[in-house]
Amino acid sequence: MADKNKMRFATALLHAGKPDGGVTPAATMVPVYQTSAFQQESAERLEGIFHNTQPGYCYTRVGNPTVSSFERRMAAIEGGVGALACASGMAATFNVICGLCEAGDELVASSCLYGGTLELFEDLERMGITVRRVDDVTPEQLAGAVTDRTRLVFAETISNPRLGVLDIPSVAAWCHGQGLPLVVDNTVASPYLCRPLELGADVVVESTSKYVNGGGNAISGVIVDSGKFRWDAERYPALAKWRKMGPFALLARLRNGLWRDTGACLAPVTAFLNCVGLETLAVRMERACENSLELATWLSGSGLVSEVGYPGLPDAPDHELAARQFGGKFGALVTFRAGSREKAFKFVNSVRYAYRASNIGDVKTLVLHPASTIFADNTPEERELAGVYDDSVRVSVGIEDVEDLIEDFRQALS
Ligand SMILES: *Cc1c(COP(=O)(O)O)cnc(C)c1O
Repeated sequence: MADKNKMRFATALLHAGKPDGGVTPAATMVPVYQTSAFQQESAERLEGIFHNTQPGYCYTRVGNPTVSSFERRMAAIEGGVGALACASGMAATFNVICGLCEAGDELVASSCLYGGTLELFEDLERMGITVRRVDDVTPEQLAGAVTDRTRLVFAETISNPRLGVLDIPSVAAWCHGQGLPLVVDNTVASPYLCRPLELGADVVVESTSKYVNGGGNAISGVIVDSGKFRWDAERYPALAKWRKMGPFALLARLRNGLWRDTGACLAPVTAFLNCVGLETLAVRMERACENSLELATWLSGSGLVSEVGYPGLPDAPDHELAARQFGGKFGALVTFRAGSREKAFKFVNSVRYAYRASNIGDVKTLVLHPASTIFADNTPEERELAGVYDDSVRVSVGIEDVEDLIEDFRQALS
């Protein structure tokens, strides 16, 4: 915060990446450009846009002003040189990995990841990309998994649902020593808790369907690049011709290639909804984090459940790292073990306010039995590494009055 010209976080949420004055007659919200294509005044101008020699829009799969506005805000908020908005968090993850790896290449990833990402790895294996897993993302374990075919290291800031915390500065420093980029899925932390690029990570992928949107009203994802990693032309041949773009090489390679060609673009109306959501991210997260700490503290003293998982609890395994890295906030996911699968189901069926839903990051509290849902297709080993047991319950804590949540949980557990 020493830079006087730099907006503070909550201000940036409202004022970073505003629509430029020329585009719109002073609307205070970015308008939704609900159009497939953009007509230009001349064939020459269209030619220039297609050759990246003139700015402008031609087709919404490639670019759209509403989407660009969301991208500029996300880049500013995460502290990157640019961003690429995607149709979903999964599309963002797929595009970064396949933008950097080709058949024969490898990546090293945490074993403890979002279930959808673990499933995506099976498809990547089928495409000839080998995924090596490490149970803990530490320099020691990474050293045993990296080979000369490794192209990136992938981990989550806070893992979902084990709630392990990634030590970003030390892991990033180790990766850079090996000439490897660190790609971080920042979905669970959200940029409110953590800006991985400021801590040394190279690329952020994020499901903005969650905390960024906040209202649980649309699916989307984003890729944000720090622009600092120097892509070696031999290791990353797909980026070779984009190296002239300097810090924008990866984003240019995706925007003009894989991302555009896989149709991973974001719908303009979703970009608009995300811009609305972003404006209240700080106040929503502040409340959800407070509620989570109170709820987790109550749960662990209640005698009704065991192994309450929340990095904010003083005896949580990653408590000190989380406190240091996230500035005293600990996120809005809480887990616990109900004692048996039946008890977990009974709790999920008995809550009055919380929704039974498989997403996270809504303003409303959500509860889920992960083993039978988001981890239904994973192996028992994968589940255990992700901290998912038969009696585990995950709570995505909302912004309700916490007294109501506690009363509701007490009746549902009794
Ligand atoms: C939800 C989620 C994703 C996938 O995002 P979608 O928007 O559902 O495609 C990826 N990573 C994490 C940690 C998530 O929670």
